[in-house]
Amino acid sequence: MGNDDPGGLTIQTIQFVHRPLQKRHYTILMKNLLLLPVLVCTPTYYIGQNAGQPETKYRNDYGEEYAIQLTKDDAAKAVLQEARYHLRNDAFSINKTSLIFDLAHNPYYLVELSPIGFGIYNPAVGDITQLCPATNSPKCNGYTELFFVPTYGFVLRSKSGGYSNFHTGCLLNQKTVDSLTDKSASYYRSTIDEARETNFVPRTSIKMNADEELTTVPHSSQRVFSDYYVNVDHHIDYDWYFRLNSDCHPTNTGVICGYVAASLVLGYLEIFKSSGYFSSSESNSYISIHEGTRYPGSIYPWHGIPEISDSFPTAAWGNGIGTTMIWDVKDALSSFIGTKKTYSFYYYLNVFASPTDPIDDGFPAIYMGNMPDYSGQFSGNIDHAVVIYGYSSVTDKLLVHFGYEDYSQVLMSKLGLFNCAGVLAVYNQSAHVHKAYFKTTVSNQYYCGCGALLS
Ligand SMILES: [Zn+2]
Repeated sequence: MGNDDPGGLTIQTIQFVHRPLQKRHYTILMKNLLLLPVLVCTPTYYIGQNAGQPETKYRNDYGEEYAIQLTKDDAAKAVLQEARYHLRNDAFSINKTSLIFDLAHNPYYLVELSPIGFGIYNPAVGDITQLCPATNSPKCNGYTELFFVPTYGFVLRSKSGGYSNFHTGCLLNQKTVDSLTDKSASYYRSTIDEARETNFVPRTSIKMNADEELTTVPHSSQRVFSDYYVNVDHHIDYDWYFRLNSDCHPTNTGVICGYVAASLVLGYLEIFKSSGYFSSSESNSYISIHEGTRYPGSIYPWHGIPEISDSFPTAAWGNGIGTTMIWDVKDALSSFIGTKKTYSFYYYLNVFASPTDPIDDGFPAIYMGNMPDYSGQFSGNIDHAVVIYGYSSVTDKLLVHFGYEDYSQVLMSKLGLFNCAGVLAVYNQSAHVHKAYFKTTVSNQYYCGCGALLS
């Protein structure tokens, strides 16, 4: 990709070049996509001239042209500064910045940091789409090509043309690839529309609060993730449940992200808000008590968390679970909780949903996108579900568990999120009931998730 990289150019002209795709064009395009899959696999971008000034434009697979406003160096600086800010650690540096594409061949910069972390930068609007300060950057080997799909994750394409989910290793069928391609294009389009409508200021610097000075976090052997704690100024209580669940239990064994998110939310409610969401036999079967060391006063009071078994989603909802819509996840939560607990839903779609409201109310929320089937060609709606457990008012990012291994502390931009999606949270309406989900290995004492010592 190095030869195609426009990062070294001086971009003087700033303008949006945007041609919305009409529905009839879409139908024609989809026919062409099916007939000529080889032709559309190559990104067609070029350097154009405008009134004597250099400008870089990209044309995606939908024939839409976008002007690149910000350079590789802008992207790298912005990502580094924001990662340092969220980690409260100035010891990080830029390792490498490269061009990466979504499945519709819109350009992004992948900024890799040292010793860990990466960000994805949208150069058409100057937005950090996704920041993973505590995650190793994705790698592909010589036999595959790496793509980024906003709000979904990374996708690999093998030399033979097959696609797979980078995180789960699952192969993606053509309908899924088509849907994710459409999602990629629609996301890019909406970031540009929203940026224009809201006079979005490209992210190049952060205005910090006085009490948020950068310091190098002192290392403590008791803090497993001490150097990689992603700070945000708003988060729910016991947020370490999500942060420490970095190997992701339950594991996403296929396209069950909505049910992984539902499981994480149920586990949080059961362990910390009030036990009883799981019956005694259900918790015995599907939640492992965390037996470990307690660290009083630490960011993480325990070195681990009670884990939900990988078998739970199918045990609770059957073998047929898979690609789904947010109302299906809502029904799944209702069916599992039943009459065991009293609860209410926070449930809003599209622009009516505010992802930060549940956080302010103290509850984790499932953010789930979906794509309406305009073409009639997709049997389902394919997107991704994540669990929001905090947000930053300084960088305007959501802190989410992305539902994949090593993606437990991911910062997501809100720009472009609500073109078609929803937010779902379960509010506990029951009195707190203790249950022993934590056990110290030293003294064999049992604790509730609320911190109460139970004998
Ligand atoms: Zn308790």
